Amino acid sequence: MLDELAKLEETARRLEPDQKQRAALNRGVEAYANQFLNALPGLKTYVADDLSAATQIPAISDDPASLEEALAYLASAVDKTGINPASGGHIGYIPGGGIYAAALGDYLADVFNRYAGVLFAGPGAVRLEKSLLRWMGSLIGFPEGAAGDLTSGGSMANLTGIVAGREAREVRAVDIPRTVVYLSAQAHHSIEKALRVAGLGECVLRFLELDECYRIRPDALATAVETDRADALIPWLVVASAGTTDVGAVDPIDALADVCQQQDLWLHVDAAYGGFFVLCDAAKELLGGMSRADSVVMDPHKGLFLPYGSGAVLVRDQAAMHRAFAYQAHYMQDAIQDVAMMSPADLSPELSRPFRGLRLWLPLMIHGLAPFRAALDEKLLLAKYFHQEIQKVPGFEVGPEPQLSVATYRYVPKKGDADQFNKLLIDELQKDGRVFVSSTRVNDRFVLRAAILNFRTHRDTVDLTIEILTDAALRLAGQGNR
Ligand SMILES: *Cc1c(COP(=O)(O)O)cnc(C)c1O
Repeated sequence: MLDELAKLEETARRLEPDQKQRAALNRGVEAYANQFLNALPGLKTYVADDLSAATQIPAISDDPASLEEALAYLASAVDKTGINPASGGHIGYIPGGGIYAAALGDYLADVFNRYAGVLFAGPGAVRLEKSLLRWMGSLIGFPEGAAGDLTSGGSMANLTGIVAGREAREVRAVDIPRTVVYLSAQAHHSIEKALRVAGLGECVLRFLELDECYRIRPDALATAVETDRADALIPWLVVASAGTTDVGAVDPIDALADVCQQQDLWLHVDAAYGGFFVLCDAAKELLGGMSRADSVVMDPHKGLFLPYGSGAVLVRDQAAMHRAFAYQAHYMQDAIQDVAMMSPADLSPELSRPFRGLRLWLPLMIHGLAPFRAALDEKLLLAKYFHQEIQKVPGFEVGPEPQLSVATYRYVPKKGDADQFNKLLIDELQKDGRVFVSSTRVNDRFVLRAAILNFRTHRDTVDLTIEILTDAALRLAGQGNR
């Protein structure tokens, strides 16, 4: 047995490289990262998928490959196709970020692998995450005692907030088909997904009337709630958006909060995209109503430019969140509950989870807030600039003045179908690939979007986008006339 153990140990110890080996590995990875970042300005933002890469994935076997071999595969097949979210040319969907300091935070968090799920196990890690959540709460005007959780993203955060609301409003399974959720047709699809996952798929969904800027009309909410109560239905949840994904519309949260207060409804604000614009003086007032919500979702991997994997949910009533997620297990009896400092595991569907706070805390520490705020202010201005400049190009028409950093527009050809034309325009832009823009349907029309949120998007990118759009539209219009 001792011989066997010695043999196993020898092989198992390969999982623990010594300092020299670590240095060599770090050098290889760092060189790869530098090469990537140095080449980035010249790289396309979109490259169509190369299906042959799927067949070349190196097989996993008992024998190790070299780091060079592994990185070569990444370079040839993973970092190459699809949308490049690291590129400033990404102005489609809602762009992500990828600030470098966050990667260093992840690196450290992974090396020391502190357990951030339970206070007893990782008190320092849990406290750090709580302080970040409290900081976010203070940004939106939440009280000190509010709870929250760092999640993998906005979808999980929406699910968490909605489940907390379900518990707080004591929505019982037998009543679900009579309960009503009020939302906008502009609400992100992760809301309906969260309702379904939370067992609330049979709730009545009331899509409220919107104003000319795609915001919920508070009077429409008040009327709908009264009608539903008169019909013996059970209104319980209102979902507002602080920046819709489609057009960046901010619902009138303050006025909706009045109705929720009068009618005793849970107000969930999905600010996954727009929440961090609260750092900007120009948007503070617009977003001020978030302070009155019951639950709020914000995505640091959007508005704070972090790499994917960072969402956050804040819940005003800590007890509601605790009721929804706390759980006891015999094998956890040593992890004594601190009532004043609830563990993340008691406020979330997760137990073991990465120490997500470090990738957020380290960049905030070493850069300070100023560059984050400046970048967000810059995005608000760039969206206005794009909106102003694209309408000067003959043939282009624009949607409403951007409330945040999403502008909508389309080209209206002199003849032929405008929807079809704009679809072709998107195809042309994808073939070009220097920037990536996406489209949506608004009022049953095909429209293009410029969603400006990547920290690498600056004025030159916006000018380039307008240039590419102008050239492509002229080319397509010319073909149509022939
Ligand atoms: C992106 C987004 C979501 C979903 O967030 P993920 O982080 O992608 O899961 C939800 N709501 C809005 C408004 C969004 O923009």
